[in-house]
Amino acid sequence: MARLSVVFCIDVIFIFMAGIYIHVPFCKTRCHYCDFFKSTKVQFRNQFLGQLLKELENRRKFFPESDKIIESVYFGGGTPSLLDVDQLKKVLAVIRKEYSLDNGAELTIEVNPDDLDPDYLEGLKKTGFNRISLGIQSFFDEDLKRMGRRHNADQSRKVIDQTFDAGFKNVGIDLIYGLPWSDQEKFLENLKIMNQYPLKHLSAYHLTIEPGTQFGRDKKRKKLSEIEEEQSEQLFWLLHDEAEKMGFDHYEISNFCRDELYSRHNTSYWIGKSYLGVGPGAHSFDGIRRFWNKSDLHQYLHCGYQKGIGEEILSENDRFNERLMLGLRTKKGIDLFDLKNIHPGLTDRLEKNIQKWIDRDFLMQSGGRIFGSRKGWFLIDGIIEDLFEV
Ligand code: SF4
Repeated sequence: MARLSVVFCIDVIFIFMAGIYIHVPFCKTRCHYCDFFKSTKVQFRNQFLGQLLKELENRRKFFPESDKIIESVYFGGGTPSLLDVDQLKKVLAVIRKEYSLDNGAELTIEVNPDDLDPDYLEGLKKTGFNRISLGIQSFFDEDLKRMGRRHNADQSRKVIDQTFDAGFKNVGIDLIYGLPWSDQEKFLENLKIMNQYPLKHLSAYHLTIEPGTQFGRDKKRKKLSEIEEEQSEQLFWLLHDEAEKMGFDHYEISNFCRDELYSRHNTSYWIGKSYLGVGPGAHSFDGIRRFWNKSDLHQYLHCGYQKGIGEEILSENDRFNERLMLGLRTKKGIDLFDLKNIHPGLTDRLEKNIQKWIDRDFLMQSGGRIFGSRKGWFLIDGIIEDLFEV
C-alpha cells in the first residue's frame, strides 16, 4: 500500500501560546445539518454583548502564569458576523485592556456570506481582524438550498472577491463534502472553483447527519441517508490529492493551508495549550481542568455565565486520550515521549498497541512521533478509539 512520504514529513514546529474563543450563539435561521449550539433570537444581541463583556472582564485571571500571552482570538458561532463592527470593537477593546494580547496575534472571525458587504469588511479590517473564515460550504445553488444555507453560489464568489478587495490576505473557506445528492465530479468542481482564489486556508468537513437537525428528521423519515463508507473514503482522498496539487498542506484531517498559514488558534487546541472560551456553550481548558458554560442563552442573558458553569478535572487517562485523539488527527501526529509523560504507567501496553497498527501499515513511526499512513488516516478515529485508555 502506497504511503504518504511527503505528506507526513515532520517539519512543522507548533509553538503557540494561549487563545481566547468567543462564542456568538446567534443565527438568522438554522442550517439543516447543524447541531451547534445557537439561537435564532437575534434580537438579544445587545444584551448578549453586555454579558459577554462582563464575562471577559471577570475571567481575566483564568490563564496560568506560563500561558499569559494571548496569541489568538477566535470569534466563532453561531454567526459572529451578526454582530456589527462597533460591537466587535468593544469585545476586542476589553481583550486588549484585560489580557496580554500579543502584537502579532491571530484575530479570526467566522463570517457568513449573506452578512457581508464592502463596508462591513472594511470595518473588520480597521478593527484589527487579520484572518477571515468564510462559511461558503459549496459553490452550487442546489447544495446551498438543500443544506438550508442563506446565501447562493453568486454570493459565495462575490464575497471572496470583496474580502480580498478589503485587503485581507489570510482568507479561508469552509466546504462540506459527502452530500447524499452530490457526487465526486461536483465536489471536484467545488475544489476547482476554490482554486481560482488565493485562499490560504480550507476547512473541509464530511457531512454527518445528527439527530435533532432537519437532516436528522429527514433520515428518520427515510428521506435522506449518509453516503457509503467507500464513497466517503474516495472523496477524502480526492480532496487530499487535489488540495495538495493546488498547493495546500493537509495538516489536520479536516484542515488545509497554504504558505504555512495554519490556524494558530485551532492548533493550540490540538497541542494541549490552554484556552478561554466565553459565551454560552463555550469550553475552556487551563492545562488540567476543563470548564464549560451551559448551552443556555436565556440563563446567560439573565444570570451571567457563573450560574451555568461546569467543571471537570481531567484524569491521567482523560489527558492521555485527549492528546492521542487530537494529535493523531494531525499530519504531524503525536510525540510518544509526551504521551508517556502524561501517563508513565502505560508505556508497555501503549507501545504494543501502537506496534500492532504499525505492523498493519495503518500507523507510521519516525523520529519518536507516530502518525497515520495513507492506509490509516481516513480510519484514524477508529484507531484512536482502539488506543484509548479506559
Ligand atoms: S450559520 Fe453556522 S452555526 Fe448557524 S445554523 Fe448554519 S451552520 Fe449552524
